[in-house]
Amino acid sequence: MKTTRRRFLKAGALLTPFTFIPEIFGKTTAVNKPLIISTWNFGVPSNAAAWTVLSKGGRALDAVETGVQVPEGDPTETSVGLGGLPDRDGRVTLDACIMDEHANIGSVACLEHIVHPISVARKVMEKTPHVMLVGDGALQFALANGFKKENLLTPESEKTWKEWLKKAEYKPVANIENHDTIGMLAMDKSGNLSGACTTSGMAFKIHGRVGDSPIIGAGLFVDNEVGAATSTGVGEEVIRIVGSHLVVELMRQGNSPFAACKKAVERIVKNQPQKSKEMQVGFLAINKNGEHGAFALQKGFTYALYTEEVPNKLFEAKSYY
Ligand code: ASP
Repeated sequence: MKTTRRRFLKAGALLTPFTFIPEIFGKTTAVNKPLIISTWNFGVPSNAAAWTVLSKGGRALDAVETGVQVPEGDPTETSVGLGGLPDRDGRVTLDACIMDEHANIGSVACLEHIVHPISVARKVMEKTPHVMLVGDGALQFALANGFKKENLLTPESEKTWKEWLKKAEYKPVANIENHDTIGMLAMDKSGNLSGACTTSGMAFKIHGRVGDSPIIGAGLFVDNEVGAATSTGVGEEVIRIVGSHLVVELMRQGNSPFAACKKAVERIVKNQPQKSKEMQVGFLAINKNGEHGAFALQKGFTYALYTEEVPNKLFEAKSYY
């Protein structure tokens, strides 16, 4: 299931890079089904991989798993999967979760040595009566299910970690490479929704730290009657407001995806008026009408959208600050 570098490059070559379409900022746009949306610049090649599933009439669940495997398998992406920056002990620990249209959920946290944690999360969802496995237990489960044990610490990430060790100061900075996650939401031709979220979490975190990304309701939430949401940024703040669930519930109350994401960000500002100025959190959402929206604390939160009308473009979300 691993996405090859070749396939990744082939997909990437067909795509336009960053496209600035101000009319779309801050608004929801009606689009045809199917639809894929995902966080940050690596959303573009990830959407391209996911589209290969949706365009053939495949399930949204298969699309999001295939899509997020792209940055997971890319050693040059230092915030997801292979090549992710390690914790402060030099260990690459991964968090991921997945949710489908039937409210089936699966999650892994603090998983080491496995390139595609999203696929382990899916196995947790499909092969166990549980919803979440962590640490060694998650690794044992992965190995028992045929996943290969690999070294995820690339020489480049090791070098960055050794540099960090010289001062060993942990200061999260908004919008830098060591602090991203891929969250992907999709609607398939049947109108069903699914989502996936995967990350190596905060770089140089305390060993055992788990962020929002593998927590259903925080990093990801899907309700097939209403819509779906995902998040990126400082996971502690997203968990504090159960962010993605909040966004979906706000949409249930009649808010557009954009308004729902904005209200969730405003809740974070209300909780942490000072701290929120220094950190990044972004939300991304879609609803059952095929509308999408995004909002972030800080400028610079990009997301990629793929529909029949908008074939894979990168946008920048509006922000509170
Ligand atoms: N949300 C992720 C975490 O807190 C990291 C990120 O998206 O930047 O682990």
